[in-house]
Amino acid sequence: MNNFDYARATTLQDAIQRSQDGSTQYIAGGTELLNWMRLGISEPARLVDIGFVSDHREIKREGNELVIGALATLNEVGENALVNQHAGALAQACLKAASAQIRNRATLGGNVLQKTRCAYFRSEAPLPWGCNKRVPGSGCAALEGLNERHAIFGWTDACVAVHPSDPLVALACLDATVQLMGPQGPRTLEVRSLHLTQEEARAERSRAPEAQRESRLRPQELIAAYRIPIADGERSAYIKVRERDSYEYALISAAASLQIKDGKVARTRIALGSVAQRPWRLLAAEQALIGSTPDKQAVLAAIRTALGDAKPLEHNRYKITMAANAATRAVLTAGGVA
Ligand code: SF4
Repeated sequence: MNNFDYARATTLQDAIQRSQDGSTQYIAGGTELLNWMRLGISEPARLVDIGFVSDHREIKREGNELVIGALATLNEVGENALVNQHAGALAQACLKAASAQIRNRATLGGNVLQKTRCAYFRSEAPLPWGCNKRVPGSGCAALEGLNERHAIFGWTDACVAVHPSDPLVALACLDATVQLMGPQGPRTLEVRSLHLTQEEARAERSRAPEAQRESRLRPQELIAAYRIPIADGERSAYIKVRERDSYEYALISAAASLQIKDGKVARTRIALGSVAQRPWRLLAAEQALIGSTPDKQAVLAAIRTALGDAKPLEHNRYKITMAANAATRAVLTAGGVA
């Protein structure tokens, strides 16, 4: 690990002023960044600690929106009564992430900015194989290697990694927005478009190679808060499929919200996790289900159709079936019929 400077910020604005382009990393809970530094994934010359900033932790209702400060921990979000009442999928996703100890440290702001769990990527430098995310131009060992946990949407030959965050999937399902702060002032993005697939990064071709560019965050920007529109009468749920029931990343996850009127689907929103480098909304299924009876066969059929353009790799075709089942179960659980 390299030597680095350390500064403790008193406000997020103070943190931005203390940061220096390209050489600074923000740290809050530290549950992810310290791994990057240990493995040689990141070697910042300066750490600016925002973990002691006293505001941006609050969870409150403002009009028809739920506002969650980025420095709230996963356990604080998951156990909050307002979140459980109005954004059940997010509460469940937070409490299904990592271990209890990590959830007590990890913040919602940091969680959505974690990096892929691709095993070729998460190894100590120097790597004995190609990984374009670590060493641009070195190739992608997962493309023809162990890729059972990798993408079925949005990938390119340069990288087939997926995003591992649970809360990110729920936030995308619930149409949350993310409030950013940076040297050029505040701005707001939809959580759904905060991250980029490799295909999107290739199409945009700015700042970094496609394997490395993962989000629309600008240099020195940080997340201040999330806003989630409250949809009265709509319930949501989060399903996580993993190899063991605790402290494990998802093979597939699904968040869904459902509003039923007169026995028919008035609105549904469905997002998949661990299928791409960002949450994957099944917009075709959401449209197809409006006006239908929310029974298993109808929901499964619409979701299977929406998954028709998946591009599985050699070892992850199972994800298509697993995603269809998880998303169906999330919709039916949200509607109280599973
Ligand atoms: Fe590296 Fe991406 Fe390939 Fe994994 S999938 S080896 S992170 S380039």
